[in-house]
Amino acid sequence: MQCYHCGSEKVVKSGRTRNGKQRFQCRDCKRSLRENFQGQGYSEARKEEILRAYSQRTSLRGLTRIFGVSRQSVSSWLKKSS
Ligand SMILES: [Zn+2]
Repeated sequence: MQCYHCGSEKVVKSGRTRNGKQRFQCRDCKRSLRENFQGQGYSEARKEEILRAYSQRTSLRGLTRIFGVSRQSVSSWLKKSS
């Protein structure tokens, strides 16, 4: 896992959030991180809709245009779902 603030890979676990999710902290910039950050801002339903569009041969560029989603988000979802 990489810090999405500074790009460092010195990310360590730092306890859990109140709702039981794993929390991380970057040792370089000392900021806290959450898992699955890239999926943030999109509901599961939205994500499915986007991935479905992708499976119907919509290009990544098409997706970014249609849904306003970043290519990075889509490819991280794809990695997780495969
Ligand atoms: Zn950092």
